[in-house]
Amino acid sequence: MQDIVYIEDAKDAHNQVPLLALHPKVGGQKDLPIVSHALDNSEDENTKPRLVILGSGWGAVSVLKNLDADKYNVTVISENNYFLFTPLLPCATVGTHELRSLLEPIRKIAARVHGHFLEARALEVDIENKMIEVQSVNGRQDRFYVPYDKLVVAVGATSITHGIEGIEHTMRLKTIQDAQQIRRKVLTNVELACLPTTTPEERKKLLSFVICGGGATGTEFAAELFDWMNEDLVSWFPKLLREDISVTIIQSRDHILNTFDVQISEYAEKRFEREGINIVTNARVARIEEDKVVYRLKNSDPNNPEFKEVPYGVCLWSTGIAMTPFVKNMSEKLGSQLHQRVLTTDGFLRVKGVDDGSIYALGDCATIGNPKILEHMMEIFENADEDQDGTLTLGEFNKAVKYMRRRFPLTERHLTKLENLFEKYDTDQSGTLDIDEMRAMLKDIDSKMTHLPATAQVASQQGRYLGKYLSQIAGLDAESTEHKSRQIGTFTYNHLGTLAYLGNTAVGEFNWGFKMIGGLWAMYLWRSVYWSEQVSMRTRANLSIDWTKRAVFGRDISIV
Ligand code: FAD
Repeated sequence: MQDIVYIEDAKDAHNQVPLLALHPKVGGQKDLPIVSHALDNSEDENTKPRLVILGSGWGAVSVLKNLDADKYNVTVISENNYFLFTPLLPCATVGTHELRSLLEPIRKIAARVHGHFLEARALEVDIENKMIEVQSVNGRQDRFYVPYDKLVVAVGATSITHGIEGIEHTMRLKTIQDAQQIRRKVLTNVELACLPTTTPEERKKLLSFVICGGGATGTEFAAELFDWMNEDLVSWFPKLLREDISVTIIQSRDHILNTFDVQISEYAEKRFEREGINIVTNARVARIEEDKVVYRLKNSDPNNPEFKEVPYGVCLWSTGIAMTPFVKNMSEKLGSQLHQRVLTTDGFLRVKGVDDGSIYALGDCATIGNPKILEHMMEIFENADEDQDGTLTLGEFNKAVKYMRRRFPLTERHLTKLENLFEKYDTDQSGTLDIDEMRAMLKDIDSKMTHLPATAQVASQQGRYLGKYLSQIAGLDAESTEHKSRQIGTFTYNHLGTLAYLGNTAVGEFNWGFKMIGGLWAMYLWRSVYWSEQVSMRTRANLSIDWTKRAVFGRDISIV
């Protein structure tokens, strides 16, 4: 127990609850101060279990929004004191949105559950003593421990580098600082390109934007650049610059936006090509030099690989995610963790290998050990077998597939061309699938299943589930927790759809099978979805103002 000094006369904002002041005792494995009470802890909160949430992104915010306000003494620890609306981050790189429009102070969100906030970086978890080692991030390097009863790890991920030589020359797009740096670099390069002393070759290089990675982030950044070139650059800068600008996307797969339906990827490629954006597919970046990206054509002879190069003024690296140092450290401590890039959890989002089940992980830093759909075979089969004759006709099989797609969205990509699938597993060619044939099919699907995608949608749904789950198990002992957990059930993901901005239009696919492929209306739909997903009315208002300002005055082109 820590030394707690009651300040008898101190009152909270409502002049009611006595406050506590802290003089943390030193202890733990590293002899650091142990902060067991927040500065603004009320006496009442000390009786509640301590819930520590690491991170202030999609996962953490969704937990905070769904947690019962009275069940825990909540402390949020994050490197940033704000929530960042990442899907609109590419828009901030060219000034379509102001950076501040994408941010909401985490203190305002945590206030709903009377939560405390510490702007600090989690360094290590002491699982045995249930404490987090934390370091302040604002110049002062104070280190201290924060004890927990339950810990939620929602620290997201960092960019994967694949060990590429020269990666330090590239820019990333994950944080608000990244967007700010890109915006400054883009505008600075354009200003440099306008100098009379800049040679034509230098100008071309300064205005060459190379994007390594043709996923949603890379593609949306290219689209924003494209909008900016056509709307603002031509209005305010020498028109000749337009001729010298080039945008190149280098993608290792067959298509850009390869997680989307191929029709959407092809539409995006055609549109970009028409607008003069170069798309290099089936190419792997080999190294990045100070002024050029060298890539290898994947289909070239492995014994004599063909390399090509493209000079750049700005190079964005956007190719996937890797563990943050904190998650890596935690994963190494828990020998049971098998997954290379994330923490593995069970269906209740409890980190595997933590015996008392007190640590939860969600979002980009975690993955759920895949549910085995074979274990749900009877449920799937009986639900589809309308005439209950123990076999599935093609019609009944379609029903089973619909059910599986809804309940286990990750199976979707393995459940296409249904008639072929039906024929393939109807081994006795009876025109129906019996239970053994269905078992063979589900077994094959299980072996091909991948993990939930690292998206805001997944993190947010997991946070919603975890907030509600934690509210229901608050204060329960281990046995009652297990019992209650079984009643609540494991997390199930409901894939609503995916969207991507393509420059004054958008593409998307929705869970009811609808595909949105271009058109101005698609851009407005895209805007409305993100507008409605905002965490506060303040950011909604900011977005609306930004869109209006852009339409009336164009984007801001000043460098600050
Ligand atoms: P994050 O939202 O990344 O939050 C992690 C938090 O942890 C941050 O606040 C960080 O500061 C904090 N943190 C990190 N390390 C520590 C530490 N050691 N100690 C304390 N705090 C720490 N997804 C979609 O579904 N749709 C989209 O359109 C989309 N567009 C995207 C565009 C961009 C540019 C990017 C980068 C991502 C996009 N995503 C999109 C993916 C989505 O942003 C992530 O999947 C989502 O943010 C994951 O949520 P999270 O809570 O796991 O992590």
